[in-house]
Amino acid sequence: MLVNLAEVRHAVESDAIVPCFQPVVDLRSVRLVGFEVLTRWRHPTLGLILPKNFIQLTEELGIIGILTRQILRKAFRSAAMLPGRLTLAVNVSPIQLRFRSLPTQIREAAEVAGLPLERLIIEITESAILDNEELALTIARELKEMGCHLALDDFGTGYASLRHLLALPFDQLKVDRSFIQQMTLRPESRKIVSAVVGLGKSLGLTTLAEGVETAEQEAMLLQVGCILAQGWLYGRPLAMDQIPSMLAAPPRAILPQLPALMRKRALEAG
Ligand code: C2E
Ligand code: CA
Ligand code: CA
Repeated sequence: MLVNLAEVRHAVESDAIVPCFQPVVDLRSVRLVGFEVLTRWRHPTLGLILPKNFIQLTEELGIIGILTRQILRKAFRSAAMLPGRLTLAVNVSPIQLRFRSLPTQIREAAEVAGLPLERLIIEITESAILDNEELALTIARELKEMGCHLALDDFGTGYASLRHLLALPFDQLKVDRSFIQQMTLRPESRKIVSAVVGLGKSLGLTTLAEGVETAEQEAMLLQVGCILAQGWLYGRPLAMDQIPSMLAAPPRAILPQLPALMRKRALEAG
């Protein structure tokens, strides 16, 4: 996709970049537990543009800070109107993690919106940590002290996952989509997912499977004891005005269709 820097700058300055919300479900009950904020650019002629086409450009332009502020403000304001049990996960890019002011920015945006910080999950990728491990740790600790939760995003795709897992006080492991999509095709991927879920459990972390698209993947995830999931099977990222109807018709009730023994095992494992 070809968009130029001037257009990106204009989009940020004119508030054309908006948050969308993708459901996260608890696999054991298929209950909605929260949303991940995924940013979209509402382009006047090209329609909705995905973040890979503009986030990096906003970093190059030095306006990622402005974009972050806008996204946090809009997403938090919307989330504050949702039922209080629902969490809200936000993505933080490597550049954003270089700003010592990130925790303050998050706290202020949450206060203005009236959103309790305990409902927030901050998603960090390993590349963000690699950039400056010491600063990442300082920021991560501050976020935790404020009451936020931390997730390690795209787990399994980085260089030194295990070390980073121990270095920062994570609460959640997000297993990368590539493993989930290979799971039903390659026994090795299934074993990796199973091992990651086991690792998460033994470290006291919740595991979340990303990119779940089929009931077959879901059944397998339940079998290996994965707790949370996200993906097209449960819903695509939605604009805020679509959320009320989604809440009225929550994600599919899959569990009753699963064999009783598998369901029992999954519930026991959790
Ligand atoms: P991510 O954090 O790993 O987000 C998950 C991506 O997978 C999203 O792509 C989502 O739309 C997509 N996805 C979710 N379920 C499925 C599925 O079942 N199948 C498939 N094929 N894809 C699925 P998206 O929205 O294009 O975002 C891409 C990346 O852009 C995100 O990856 C995240 O790293 C980054 N991003 C998104 N929003 C923000 C933001 O507000 N700030 C920053 N810094 N980065 C963002
Ligand atoms: Ca993410
Ligand atoms: Ca991810």
